[in-house]
Amino acid sequence: MSDAKTLIDLEDNYGAHNYHPLDVVLSRGEGIWVWDVEGNKYMDFLASYSAVNQGHCHPKIVEALVRQSRKLALTSRAFRNDQLGPFFKELCELTGFEKVLPMNTGAEAVETAIKAARKWGYKVKGVPEGQAEILVFDNNFHGRTTTIVGFSSESQYQDGFGPFTLGFTLLPYGDSDAVRAAMNPNVVAILIEPIQGEGGIIIPPKGYLRLLRELCDQHNALLVVDEIQSGLGRTGKLFAYQHEDIRPDMVTIGKALSGGMYPVSALLADDAVMSVFHPGDHGSTYGGNPVAAAVARTAMRVLLEEGMIENSAKLGSYLMDRLSALDSQHIKEIRGKGLWIGIELHPEAGGARHFCEQLMHDRLLCKETHEHVIRLAPPLMITREELDWALERVERVLATEAVAV
Ligand SMILES: *Cc1c(COP(=O)(O)O)cnc(C)c1O
Repeated sequence: MSDAKTLIDLEDNYGAHNYHPLDVVLSRGEGIWVWDVEGNKYMDFLASYSAVNQGHCHPKIVEALVRQSRKLALTSRAFRNDQLGPFFKELCELTGFEKVLPMNTGAEAVETAIKAARKWGYKVKGVPEGQAEILVFDNNFHGRTTTIVGFSSESQYQDGFGPFTLGFTLLPYGDSDAVRAAMNPNVVAILIEPIQGEGGIIIPPKGYLRLLRELCDQHNALLVVDEIQSGLGRTGKLFAYQHEDIRPDMVTIGKALSGGMYPVSALLADDAVMSVFHPGDHGSTYGGNPVAAAVARTAMRVLLEEGMIENSAKLGSYLMDRLSALDSQHIKEIRGKGLWIGIELHPEAGGARHFCEQLMHDRLLCKETHEHVIRLAPPLMITREELDWALERVERVLATEAVAV
């Protein structure tokens, strides 16, 4: 067995440096807990960016992975497989959409939504060829492909990667007038995160999604909601858009769709939109493979059967209450829904990473997002006692004096 230092050196010497991880080398996980190579135990308060909503190595999901991979792992979509139909049916019944298009990563699901919206725009709405426009928002995060980073407002995501795909218009997130003014006959879709996760747990003003729904109806455009991080229970409902009682035309999901076991993503839509795809228009070698389908079916079942969505709502308000009662000079604002909370620190606090490093030494694993936000997002099966254990540490670290930088 190698020690942490040796393993970190291997990563750094042989791997591309496109991440800046905390220096904790994990080798085992169970539920909300993970262990490093030296046997130290930590509570995971990131849940792999909400991919592990069901907890690490959930025995039922592991069982589905093992059982299916022993039987049949990949057919490609050139042939059918016995897991795909049931997966589609269960996912449609759960979400209320008529059709599913399976992919692997979140970014691929978003790319699929973009292709569907454009094709719908040309073939159904009648937008002149090459003129389709999609409205997107400042501070968005929809993935890392060249097309997607092409409409990011984050300069680092774009720097050095152009030229970019045309046809996207950036608007201020939460600004109603800006969207009203931007609507025009060539707009085929509005693409939005119902809560911006990577952007720092930013919640738009109440009624914003409803307004977008109305504008899309008035102007014959599609409302596309990216629920890859916010969906599947994270905010205390199956989907974050349900807090505003709307129904989008398309939804992208990923991350927790497999409970962290395997890359599985999907685009959800009704027939009226999904039927723009014909054989040969779009696809993926691994998309909808039997292992992905079996794992996702089980991950969805676990989420529902074990009451994780309700738990997220209930313990999320508890966590929010406890955090709001905190008296710390460092805190600028606390925002969130369900078990998804961002603690924004004042710039003078010296950056969120510093606090995350202290929390790591205290055996609680969090990750900063943007420079000044500590993101709290534990697996959704956490108990109140375990939350108290974490809160003790968060309270302690936020009670410290300002850090020297
Ligand atoms: C993580 C994320 C993505 C991208 O998912 P990948 O699996 O990393 O490609 C897209 N949209 C949102 C909102 C996300 O949080």
